[in-house]
Amino acid sequence: MSYSHSPLTYGSMTAPLIDPFARAITYLRVSVTDRCDFRCVYCMSENMTFLPKKELLTLEELDRMCSTFVGLGVEKLRITGGEPLVRRDIMTFFRAMTRHLDSGALKELTLTTNGSQLEKHAQALFDAGVRRVNVSLDTLDEAKFAEVTRWGRLPQVLRGIDAAQAAGLRVKINAVALKDFNEDELFSMTQWCASRGIDLTWIEVMPMGDIGNENRLGQYWSLKDVRKAYEAGYQVTDLAERTGGPARYVRLEETGQQIGFITPLSHNFCESCNRVRLTCTGELYMCLGQEDMADLRAPLRDHPDTEAPLEDAIRAAISLKPKGHDFDYSRQSVDGQMTRHMSHTGG
Ligand code: SAM
Ligand code: SF4
Repeated sequence: MSYSHSPLTYGSMTAPLIDPFARAITYLRVSVTDRCDFRCVYCMSENMTFLPKKELLTLEELDRMCSTFVGLGVEKLRITGGEPLVRRDIMTFFRAMTRHLDSGALKELTLTTNGSQLEKHAQALFDAGVRRVNVSLDTLDEAKFAEVTRWGRLPQVLRGIDAAQAAGLRVKINAVALKDFNEDELFSMTQWCASRGIDLTWIEVMPMGDIGNENRLGQYWSLKDVRKAYEAGYQVTDLAERTGGPARYVRLEETGQQIGFITPLSHNFCESCNRVRLTCTGELYMCLGQEDMADLRAPLRDHPDTEAPLEDAIRAAISLKPKGHDFDYSRQSVDGQMTRHMSHTGG
């Protein structure tokens, strides 16, 4: 499939997106599909009902949406899902975004993927201007990988990582920290990443969506404890680097490696939050931990010839961005639990 770029101009209103707490919104995460070829136990139930196609933004609509955000000052686009690389013709969209990299308006185009389709798409992603890719990988053990992803197969993902590195993409591994699951792989995964020049970030499991019978609290492995475990084997130096998100970084002096910790539950990172999330149906979530959202699909679809109503709707949504979220895992309860899936808002 191919389509021509919209002739519309974007970002006619030049004021950047600033929320009520003086945070500039420069980072948009876009879920391009709710579908996935895996069924990770903490993310999806085995039998998922996916959205009918007409609910989804088309590739042209995704282009208009992202281009409007870029016109309003968004400098970083992260494409996610579901699994972004299972969306049909998604490379057409990536290639279309290249023009914003070329113009200098967009500083970074990147994606988060389970890696299953990377072998096929790595070179095309690089050619479209993608330079970094986050691959989600919780274990290097084939049997455990099949267990946690239900439908995934490790060798396919490892071939994807090889292809990404061969194409010149910088790879970061995101691993969900799961007690009694990958606790014992902390050092082996770290060493494996170090040997391949890959950075590693641990994510605390979040209480998202109805995922069937899995016990979320049983899976929770505090990143404070992950950090302590590192201190037993390495000299750990805190780094000042922040990305405006929930990640903190340390350096392991022995390997020079940077290790990230994403702790949305136990740390307050909201004061520096620079991001919003767009779902594949065009809902804009202003905060990962709040239900508040704005429908951007209607102003987009109802006005095919002008971006002004969409820009107005985006500005109105940003003016409602909350100060922070209220997840709370304390006392073994899941207060603040969200009912939507990560695959919906894109993680
Ligand atoms: N399918 C792609 C992938 O797995 O990388 C992109 C979408 S996935 C929803 C994005 C990230 O969210 C993945 O790194 C995944 O491990 C993480 N994730 C999903 N459910 C989670 C949960 N309940 N808690 C913490 N992280 C979660
Ligand atoms: Fe799919 Fe990613 Fe969710 Fe796993 S975490 S089921 S790969 S969307």
